[in-house]
Amino acid sequence: MEVIATDCQEYELKSVLKKVREALTKLQVEQLVVRGDKVLLKPNLLSPHQPEAGITTHPVVVEAVIRYFQQLGAEVKVGESSGGMMVNQSLTEQAFEKTGVLAVCQKLDVEVVNFDRVSTRVLSSDKYEFPLPEVLLEADLVVSLPKLKTHSLTLFTGAVKNLYGCIPGMKKVEYHRSCPHPVDFSELVVDIFELVKPDLAIMDGIVGLEGNGPGSTGDACQMGVILASQDLVALDTVAASYLGYTQNQVPITRIAAERGLGSNRLEQIEIIGGYQPSQQEYRLPSNALLSLLPNWLLQPLFGSLLSQPIINQQECIECQLCVQSCPQEVIIERQGLEIEEEGCIKCLCCQELCPQEAITVKEHSLVRLIRSIKEFLG
Ligand code: SF4
Ligand code: SF4
Repeated sequence: MEVIATDCQEYELKSVLKKVREALTKLQVEQLVVRGDKVLLKPNLLSPHQPEAGITTHPVVVEAVIRYFQQLGAEVKVGESSGGMMVNQSLTEQAFEKTGVLAVCQKLDVEVVNFDRVSTRVLSSDKYEFPLPEVLLEADLVVSLPKLKTHSLTLFTGAVKNLYGCIPGMKKVEYHRSCPHPVDFSELVVDIFELVKPDLAIMDGIVGLEGNGPGSTGDACQMGVILASQDLVALDTVAASYLGYTQNQVPITRIAAERGLGSNRLEQIEIIGGYQPSQQEYRLPSNALLSLLPNWLLQPLFGSLLSQPIINQQECIECQLCVQSCPQEVIIERQGLEIEEEGCIKCLCCQELCPQEAITVKEHSLVRLIRSIKEFLG
């Protein structure tokens, strides 16, 4: 399976358009589209952030992909359900606006679809039922447009994890509650991937996110790459390797490959396009260190070893976003907002969505010890 990885260092429309067109031509994407086809683009607009934060798919990349498909005569729509809900208010609208994607869609006369507000059809996997937007299921072509990022819970978020944003609003919170373990949650994400069956992914890795992503506690980092593939698992495997992950470290790609949904073996993936990954060592989320522990120790202790979120009262503006998005309802008012550790499943939804970077994570002492040993050994 082919993954295109092309060098692209800045968000300059002309050059991004050229790189996107070259990548999609190599993949012969024009053969997948007939004039009049409905093409649904799914960017990652996790929460309302400026494009420079490195958290959301950059509007220039979205614009380049829209223009490519419009030139083929397709009817393009852009759909998303962002990560949180306020009472009676979908964050998705704010996210479309603040990320600059709304302005691009308006300029190119493209319909913006807020997945929180459209009709859905329920599809089932072996374990779960998922309400999925009709507009997504009826599209002739579904294209995942992820951002290249670390993720504190699933370690990496890319083309496959991006599909979690096809689930409308608060339903996402319910799944977090029913799947607190990262591997169970990853299984659920792969279920969604299997049901949505996207045709293609184009990843914005020009500026990525390292550290404790996928929200504002991660740090934007220059990576200088656009990736594209029809094998979303292979694309994610390549992108995750650029951050420094090993083959089986990211549960979503491992599970998807085990189910035969794509390849997570770098030696079997043909990477073309000439991108030379940087030798820079990117910072992985704290929880990534847990994969260095042997399974016999990790399995029984896993939940208690995950990093614990903590609210920094000095930074908190009491916007209530975390309170309303917490699946366990353990963020409570005492003297300021606090997280009750007992009951917290460490899904880190609160951290993902906090607009103030007011939620940090406290590493378990064992993880701190592993970090010290690792640094000592170089
Ligand atoms: S911690 Fe963040 S999300 Fe929660 S209330 Fe404070 S500012 Fe809002
Ligand atoms: S406090 Fe944060 S990490 Fe804990 S359950 Fe709630 S949203 Fe998840």
